[in-house]
Amino acid sequence: MNILITGANRGLGLSLVKHGIENGHHVYAGTRTIDGNTIGDLKKLQQEYQEQLKIVQIDVTDEDTVKDALQQIKQTTKHLDVIINNAGILNERDKSIEELDLDECMKALDINTLGPVRVTKHFLSLLEQGEKQSIINISSEAGSLTNAYSGDYPYGLSKVALNMLTEKLHATLKDKAIQVLSVHPGWMNTDMGGSNAPTDPTTTADGIYQMIERKVKIKSDYLFVDYNGNAMEI
Ligand code: NDP
Repeated sequence: MNILITGANRGLGLSLVKHGIENGHHVYAGTRTIDGNTIGDLKKLQQEYQEQLKIVQIDVTDEDTVKDALQQIKQTTKHLDVIINNAGILNERDKSIEELDLDECMKALDINTLGPVRVTKHFLSLLEQGEKQSIINISSEAGSLTNAYSGDYPYGLSKVALNMLTEKLHATLKDKAIQVLSVHPGWMNTDMGGSNAPTDPTTTADGIYQMIERKVKIKSDYLFVDYNGNAMEI
């Protein structure tokens, strides 16, 4: 399969890249920047998997980088099978509504919600040429209406809107049998989740590939599931 992953240089994105190439897939690793130490781990992987791993710059807030990445990828393949919209930020963590910085709220929406919109907008035509296609939007339990808690305002708002994007894409694409899912990846041991988190991102990545490869039955009427395919509260 040909797989595009955003936010691919660390955390869950990097685990998804590793799992993909180690299992014989071709991976297009989208990274906010292609300079400097931030993509060191990906560059090391690329030395070992030159044929299977291509790094492309995608800042999900910058539509021009998405368009440029599409052109680069089109030079190497005529189809894409999977898009994983993984890039995300968690900002304004413990702030009350009175303390919120609205620019930071806009930033969370720009990255976590409009990022997947930009990527899907430009890459859908390439995905439609693929087989057993999937769009996987990495969401969060913070995007459950039934799990509203104090704090993380921009994050919760951005992820609940992402879940609606998933439902809308499904409504549009169901006749083409393109699988669209919002996936809660668990509380993961990454820069975002912190070192006390119980879930290793490699475990999450494994579960997500089971869904991509249609090896698990999705046990939900809605398209919001955890990394084992179990229904999340909407
Ligand atoms: P990390 O903070 O470890 O990594 C975030 C990734 O997103 C980095 O690669 C970062 O790139 C990238 N990114 C941020 N902004 C942009 C941008 N504008 N354009 C492109 N890439 C960008 O996060 P995780 O790996 O933990 O999280 C991955 C996903 O899982 C996110 O969507 C997150 O919301 C979700 N999630 C995570 C949980 C957890 O416990 N960790 C729990 C629930 C959901 P750079 O290095 O350049 O900044």
